[in-house]
Amino acid sequence: MNSELSIVIPLYNEAENIEPLYAELSAALAEVGRAYEVIIVDDGSRDDSFARLKAVHERDPRWRVIRFRRNFGQTAGFSAGFDAARGQIVITSDADLQNDPRDIPRLLAKMAEGYDIVSGWRVNRKEPFLSRRLPSMIANRLISGATGVTLHDYGCSLKAYRSEVVKSVRLYGELHRFIPAIASWMGVSVAEVPVNDRARRFGRSKYGINRTFKVFLDLITVRFILGYATRPLHIFGGLGLILSLLGIVTGLYLSFIKLALGQQIGSRPLLLLAILLVVLGVQMISIGLLAEMVMRTYHEVQDKPIYVVRDRLGE
Ligand code: UDP
Ligand code: MG
Repeated sequence: MNSELSIVIPLYNEAENIEPLYAELSAALAEVGRAYEVIIVDDGSRDDSFARLKAVHERDPRWRVIRFRRNFGQTAGFSAGFDAARGQIVITSDADLQNDPRDIPRLLAKMAEGYDIVSGWRVNRKEPFLSRRLPSMIANRLISGATGVTLHDYGCSLKAYRSEVVKSVRLYGELHRFIPAIASWMGVSVAEVPVNDRARRFGRSKYGINRTFKVFLDLITVRFILGYATRPLHIFGGLGLILSLLGIVTGLYLSFIKLALGQQIGSRPLLLLAILLVVLGVQMISIGLLAEMVMRTYHEVQDKPIYVVRDRLGE
């Protein structure tokens, strides 16, 4: 079977959502009229999600199921789905029906214009303002500013990717929301289309407010990887040089006071600061050098090139 589209959906304890998801998704995809596969990644559900998925698969073999041994998280779910996907276009979605499958044709129409990534943008979000939409607004601004990939809704799972984009990003931790930013490393064109957001009908959300802090920390990782992954010494060493220089200047000033003016400097806080700055500076430079070695190992062990080719003309 040749699939043109792969729909990748991580799913954790969503038993009641499975049949409605099957009905809605099948109807939407029938309308699209292209060969497709749906890859559901059961992320270690403890309810009877797997039994229901099995029933769906037996009815419709286009629905494939990957079942994790335990709950590895949504990012691992996406990752497993990407590895298994055989279509040229990969569409991701949540399993809880908050995303609306009827938006898929719109995503595909935008992809047909030549984009590598088309991101859903939930314009009418149904979730509470203070605990969900506000943190998300701030996160979207921060991520857009820090990564240079401006999106209104990084958190929306409904997105479409050209297959080679998702096959080439390696995801860790909870980085799935950063895929468009991480992929920008290889040079991708990104578009947004407004999509429908619906309230959850069955089951509960798997996340709380502490996700906000993790997203912020992850942003630091992503920003560093994007900007400095192949030249970590430039950031650590740069910082180290500035700190050391400040420390040395302060030290020289104190030496001058001691030697030329003959004053006591042993009790001056400035002396401590000078020592602190030099020590910190040296440490920063050392961390940068270590990071350089780690980075080289990372690339060479994985055989990971530091560039991505789009076309080649001639050998
Ligand atoms: N999910 C998952 N593994 C997890 C947590 C969530 O596969 O550890 C799935 C979940 O079943 C749903 C999607 O990820 O399909 C989004 O989760 P949820 O709806 O809880 O997040 P929210 O919409 O509240 O941000
Ligand atoms: Mg949800």
